[in-house]
Amino acid sequence: MERMQQIVGRAKAAFRSGRSRPLEFRIQQLKALERMVQEKEKEILAALKADLNKSGPNAYSHELLGVLRELVRAVEELPSWAAPHPVKKDLLTLRDKAYIHYEPLGVVLVIGAWNYPFLLVMQPLIGAIAAGNAVVVKPSEVSENTARVLAELLPQYLDKDLYAVVTGGAPETTELLTQRFDHILYTGNSRVGRIVMAAAAKHLTPVTLELGGKSPCYIDRDCDLAVACRRIAWGKYMNCGQTCIAPDYILCHPSIQDKVVENIKETLKEFYGEDVKSSPDYGRIINQRHFKRILDLLEGQKIALGGETDEASRFIAPTILTDVSPESKVMEEEIFGPVLPIVTVKSVEEAIDFINLREKPLALYVFSNKKQLIARVIAETSSGGMTANDVLMHSVVPGLPFGGVGQSGMGAYLGRYSFETFSHRRSCLIRDLRWEVVNKLRYPPGSMEMMHLAKLFLLKQCNKGRVGQFILALLGAVKAVVAKVLCPKLEG
Ligand code: NAD
Repeated sequence: MERMQQIVGRAKAAFRSGRSRPLEFRIQQLKALERMVQEKEKEILAALKADLNKSGPNAYSHELLGVLRELVRAVEELPSWAAPHPVKKDLLTLRDKAYIHYEPLGVVLVIGAWNYPFLLVMQPLIGAIAAGNAVVVKPSEVSENTARVLAELLPQYLDKDLYAVVTGGAPETTELLTQRFDHILYTGNSRVGRIVMAAAAKHLTPVTLELGGKSPCYIDRDCDLAVACRRIAWGKYMNCGQTCIAPDYILCHPSIQDKVVENIKETLKEFYGEDVKSSPDYGRIINQRHFKRILDLLEGQKIALGGETDEASRFIAPTILTDVSPESKVMEEEIFGPVLPIVTVKSVEEAIDFINLREKPLALYVFSNKKQLIARVIAETSSGGMTANDVLMHSVVPGLPFGGVGQSGMGAYLGRYSFETFSHRRSCLIRDLRWEVVNKLRYPPGSMEMMHLAKLFLLKQCNKGRVGQFILALLGAVKAVVAKVLCPKLEG
């Protein structure tokens, strides 16, 4: 307990020193992170290989590239994100300065998950630094090699007091959560999400919860199945199915079920060759516990493809289950592994009902040639994010926030949205001590004449463009004169 108190205490003192606030300092720290990724690429890739059997090119494109992109964007765009944001005014404040000032929250806690262990710690860290905070990061202990590399490298490149790394599992995180933070961003399952939120509530600390869930994928009959299946297979079997926004299950008409299986089978040959097990591009399940959990989900199911396993290397072949009952175990929990159930539905209405009867997912996918059908699915369902005619790709569009809704999470981040998540939007109004006459509208004694004037000035706004500004200024002057005439005693 004392150790956590010390770490957080040091971060708080460093934050109070004010050195994390100047933009030049933030940018310098972000550039140091960029150097870290470039100079220590080998160590980071080796850790990802050891944790999840990620091959160099896959680890680079799925984790390091995302981190580097986020860094480049933050360094480039921080000055515009952090600039005061002027807002619309009305007659009462026409002569004043009114703007939003983005200020850092203080000390932020980032708790990462194991499936993209580098990315899921680094991306929130980048946003928290960009917003001017001190940060404590807690990588997942499940991906122990990446956790160790982060704990070794971050202090070599960043201000050690402002940015701390705590390693460990549930006991350490539990201790850490007794400390008071100014914001917590947690990535992981919803059971622990509840624990994090309850601990945060004790200190009234706001939280961003990046959780998971079962992300559906509806395939319409009117669609290029070969392309759809290639894209789905890529997103489903990447990282051995351990991706929070991977398509969890497929909904499609019974008449195309077999074709979906055939097309995915063909694609898998293209991607991983005849022997998936020896492909450098195919990952492994993170640990024995998850391996057994996924195998349990296969019980009693019709395996149309795959199903081969090897416990020693935690290998599970890309697997497809057909004619899956909505009531089966595999349809109850998030699969988080390379198993793709197909549930058949007769129509898009049935698919929409199916989705809406369940918790709001983190992602939703729809494949169709019909624009109207896509629009309908979007309009009649809800999810954290969605992509039509592809999977995962909404998470890499620079301008889109990433986050869940309902049981799949709360809050969002990435790019500007990270900056906003880790900033307080402070409302600022800078007034002039002159022009007191204008304020008579709001001072006692009250009168109905004043009320009518207030209605006229505040409800009938015309502040659009220069003409509007001019009319407003004119009205302001008239108002002052009228106020003077109505209440000469108060003039002062
Ligand atoms: P995990 O086991 O790594 O746990 C996440 C974090 O919670 C770890 O840092 C761990 O130390 C901590 N933790 C575990 N038990 C705790 C406890 N009792 N008290 C406090 N902290 C505790 O990861 P996981 O939960 O297995 O991650 C998988 C889940 O995360 C899936 O549901 C997946 O969909 C979701 N996920 C979501 C996103 C997203 O961005 N929305 C990204 C990745 C994963």
